[in-house]
Amino acid sequence: MTGDGGNMAYNSRIEGFRQNEFPMLRDEVYLDHAGTTLYAKSLVDKFAADMTSNLFGNPHSASFSSQTSTSRIEDVRLRVLQFFNADPSEFDLVFVSNATAGIKLVTEAFRGHALGFDYLYHQACHTSLIGVREEATHNHCLDNAGVDSWLGGTNPFTDLSHHDSPLLVAYPAQSNMDGSRFPLEWADQFRRSQAASHRPTFTLLDAAAFVATSPLDLSNSETAPDFTVLSFYKMFGFPDLGGLIVRRQAAPIFRSRKYFGGGTVDMVVCLREQWHAPKSQALHESLEDGTLPIHSIIALDSALDVHRRLFISMKDVSSHTSFLSQRLYDGLATLKHSNGQPVCLIYSQPSLTSKQVGTPLGNGPVVSFNLQNHLGGWISLVEFEKLAVLKKFHVRTGGLCNPGGIANALNLAPWEMKRNFSAGFRCGTDNDIMSGKPTGVIRVSLGGMSTISDVDRFIAFIIEFYLTENIPEFISPALVPDPPSLPNMSVKGITVFPIKSCGGFHIPTGVAWEVRAEGLAWDREWCLVHRGTGQALSQKRHPRMALIRPVIDFSKGQLRVSYFGPLLQKILPEVAVPLSANPSLFQASMTSNPMASRVCGEEISAQIYTSREVNDFFTAALGVPCALARFPPGGLGNSMRHAKAHLQKHQKVNRRSQCMIPCQFPGMDTPPDSDSESERQRILLSNESPILAINLSSLEALNRLLTEQGGKAVSPEVFRANIVVGPLTAGSQRFAYSEDHWSSLRIGQQDFKMLGSCRRCHMICIDQETAEKNEEPFVTLSKTRRFDGKVFFGTHMCHLPSPNTSTKETQFPTISVGDKVLVDPV
Ligand SMILES: *Cc1c(COP(=O)(O)O)cnc(C)c1O
Repeated sequence: MTGDGGNMAYNSRIEGFRQNEFPMLRDEVYLDHAGTTLYAKSLVDKFAADMTSNLFGNPHSASFSSQTSTSRIEDVRLRVLQFFNADPSEFDLVFVSNATAGIKLVTEAFRGHALGFDYLYHQACHTSLIGVREEATHNHCLDNAGVDSWLGGTNPFTDLSHHDSPLLVAYPAQSNMDGSRFPLEWADQFRRSQAASHRPTFTLLDAAAFVATSPLDLSNSETAPDFTVLSFYKMFGFPDLGGLIVRRQAAPIFRSRKYFGGGTVDMVVCLREQWHAPKSQALHESLEDGTLPIHSIIALDSALDVHRRLFISMKDVSSHTSFLSQRLYDGLATLKHSNGQPVCLIYSQPSLTSKQVGTPLGNGPVVSFNLQNHLGGWISLVEFEKLAVLKKFHVRTGGLCNPGGIANALNLAPWEMKRNFSAGFRCGTDNDIMSGKPTGVIRVSLGGMSTISDVDRFIAFIIEFYLTENIPEFISPALVPDPPSLPNMSVKGITVFPIKSCGGFHIPTGVAWEVRAEGLAWDREWCLVHRGTGQALSQKRHPRMALIRPVIDFSKGQLRVSYFGPLLQKILPEVAVPLSANPSLFQASMTSNPMASRVCGEEISAQIYTSREVNDFFTAALGVPCALARFPPGGLGNSMRHAKAHLQKHQKVNRRSQCMIPCQFPGMDTPPDSDSESERQRILLSNESPILAINLSSLEALNRLLTEQGGKAVSPEVFRANIVVGPLTAGSQRFAYSEDHWSSLRIGQQDFKMLGSCRRCHMICIDQETAEKNEEPFVTLSKTRRFDGKVFFGTHMCHLPSPNTSTKETQFPTISVGDKVLVDPV
């Protein structure tokens, strides 16, 4: 698929540039916001040369270095205005930290107006524009039809008529949600729409998404927006800086702005008299509070140079990205499951052929969509992202800070969004399909650095993983095997993970290990928390945690910890803390601890160790400022957590035995019924349930798939199970995944209840010996063990204490390696 209409010279220029300048990132496919991450070698080299051959001082002094900064900043200001064809006598550019800061600066002016202001905003607005409404006296949101009728002279909003206060109208040049574009002419048309009523009307154009890949032409100052905001990092990747372009005719509104700061005032009198004179020479001087980000502004010079050398012009970027996004759109839109069901529901318009709001603007180079299976079911965005990350695609998913656009695309009514919120949905949570509707989208956003191969690789990825005929049936035994027909099984290994997310401690053969309602003794009782945020660290983010290996040493009464990874600095070979929870080792009173800890987003109160020696050990091992914390059993309130595991839909549970098992847990006030007990099962710091078990027959089946494709078999360690069970003899693949249908286990003398399959993420791709990250086994599992979009391996379970507590085995329940395992004993 080459040579069909694109600018091949452009494409190969970018291919070459990426090979040269991003050799380490060759496999990464950057599809998030323009991908114009230019802060490659050329830009950084150019900027570094500038920085090392000039001394840039703080402006506003007479020194040479200060003068250099001032004049360079003014040169860049002019150069940026010229980039947008904006005549400096008609426009001024105010440097701000990002587009949002530009919006806030405009809002400050209107808020300060003696009569207040009214606000109209388009439905496609970014969250940062919606927030302006909270400062307005009256506000309304308009969709396209609303804009048409407003521009046609109708004002349906009675609260907006007969006012002398200014009216501010805001809309995006391009939606960051789906790439739809809105006409530049609106700016002028809105202003004129109120001419008859003499209401002062101003327009605010959010060009942040638009200017990343399109030329913005402000050559006609009569029709231009009054305020245009943008972010330079979206155009160039670097520097992190924003701009507010003000049409000088609208400048007087800034006289209403009340705040002044260092840099924006000429004289201030305090104490007995309060008086100040705002800077009045140049508009930008009166608006740039505090010291300017001097070096960032100067870096824009290098960014503009490299941009011109590489892309020639914004028109070239625009036509290249339109071509690419049309190719992506066509590629995704034509994908069908074998039963004819489309794979993608696309919310964006095709980029080259669409005509929106009567203007041939095309669509921005953005394709937003959701994936559906062959039965029309939605694919969870969280699950999609896990795979995309492993396959090195950088894509945004979720609500994208565009609530109006999302509600419109997904057809979510306000009551539905509020219901989802009350039901626990938040930006970035796991459960993203609510009441049969997706709550966000997948957004692929192309830019000047994107290439044909990026697009083709993404389409191939969707075909490989989301087209049903490419996905074998979910591997799960069709029939629930009769427990007696299962092979004889035994416990092959028992492991506890004393410190959450760190290495495991293998229980030696012959040692009887205590099982408790919360799980195996000493499992996940400790964790490492970030010293700044209190967040529990996870191996997902810090793979080297696997190389921190704790040992439970009963003879010394200690948890001893060593680190087996690469080191940047010298650390102790080992640290130890007592197994007994001596209160003097922890930070003072938990109630006075101002910082709560968080595990999996859940607030907990863990006790944080004060020992510098211990905390420095972990900090040095991981290169992250962290502290050891303990979450002992038996806590209350935030010191208590509950299991979240539950039976999954693919599991056919053998009801026969389920009801016969006594369900009594210590510390529970009501006898649980079979549906609620798993919800209430206490856990310590494990993610979901007290105990995780895997079946070696299933691992054998998985490893056969892996090796058949030429891959490496994975070790059972990657699943971080507490209990590994397996048949006494090898070659038991036909019992693979039979655990999906088990409802209970007897291990030795102890009974356990199954709580549901374990949902997996790419943490299983971390080799627990080396801390290296691979694609497997997640990729193969997601082709063979994906159900409802989720990937499963292993099973959650909990211990069932015996109602009879008169024997040694029931008073102190234990299991050992080698114990016989019975499935669903009656
Ligand atoms: C990114 C973006 C913003 C916000 O920009 P910041 O630089 O993060 O403040 C606003 N509007 C649109 C359309 C955007 O794409």
